[in-house]
Amino acid sequence: MRDFAYHRPRDLAEALALLADDDEAMVLAGGQTLLPTLKQGLNQPSALIDLSGIAGLSDIREVAGGFEIGAMATHAAVAGDPGLLRRFPAFARLARQIGDPHIRNRGTIGGSLANNDPSADYPAALLACGAVIVTDRSEFQVEEFFAGLFTTALDFGEIITRIKVPQPRRFGYASIRNPASRYASTGVAVAERQDGTTVVAVTGAGQDGVYRWSEAEARLNDDFSVAVVESLMPDADDMIADARTPGAYRAALVLAMTKAAVRAAHQQQPCRGSTDGDDGS
Ligand SMILES: Cc1cc2nc3c(=O)[nH]c(=O)nc-3n(C[C@H](O)[C@H](O)[C@H](O)COP(=O)(O)OP(=O)(O)OC[C@H]3O[C@@H](n4cnc5c(N)ncnc54)[C@H](O)[C@@H]3O)c2cc1C
Repeated sequence: MRDFAYHRPRDLAEALALLADDDEAMVLAGGQTLLPTLKQGLNQPSALIDLSGIAGLSDIREVAGGFEIGAMATHAAVAGDPGLLRRFPAFARLARQIGDPHIRNRGTIGGSLANNDPSADYPAALLACGAVIVTDRSEFQVEEFFAGLFTTALDFGEIITRIKVPQPRRFGYASIRNPASRYASTGVAVAERQDGTTVVAVTGAGQDGVYRWSEAEARLNDDFSVAVVESLMPDADDMIADARTPGAYRAALVLAMTKAAVRAAHQQQPCRGSTDGDDGS
């Protein structure tokens, strides 16, 4: 592992100045992805800029029409936030399903978005809700933010500061989880937004990462019911496939999770997908 400097700036300006001075520096959030990649030599930064000392980056606030979640809010903080539990419990529940207690206590929503793992949970939920990703220099509509596997619209040295999450009218999330990592093998978020449009966002299945399933959206926009999606099936050739999970199986999972998510949205409570009853805590 390459030697690197470690900085723990006290404010965003100091963090940005450190990044501007060193084009091999990297931002450190909870380290849940970054530290293993350092150990494996996949990332070899000259310096880590630890965001944990910057006040205000972890706040979760109720605002008109939704929530603002600080980039450094851990999954555990999202899962236990009283406002989210009261007004948007399905979102808190989604955070409670991520990884295991260690991952939830260290991993952050900002790190998850910057990393854009194709099986991560938040990207689907935020795409469905129509979130806005706020950085030190701009605001991205979520649709513009995710740009393929492990790729985002972030520039070098750009720091996510918070995420604006509009509260949908109805929301459901359902996932089949890898029993080892607890990442979503396939997860679907369905949101009926305040303007009445329905968005279906899929994680863990698409070859380019999180995506919207427009065919299901068109049906659900006419009639928000499980019955209208029953006869649909995503194209198996568009799915991630491997020896254990052929594309056709993954496509069937997308349909099954979509139906479960719509059911959950009707119940106005977070869904229990077939394997997500045990949150590992
Ligand atoms: C064993 C295991 C199981 C997991 N299970 C799940 C799961 O079930 N569901 C799920 O969704 N995720 C899962 N994760 C991912 C995890 O939840 C973290 O969200 C993810 O690893 C990012 O970690 P982090 O927040 O510590 O960021 P770090 O590892 O510190 O950083 C990750 C990347 O993001 C960059 N970065 C971090 N913060 C910012 C910021 N504010 N602005 C700009 N760039 C930033 C870093 O430079 C780095 O490139 C799992 C991870 C592991 C290791």
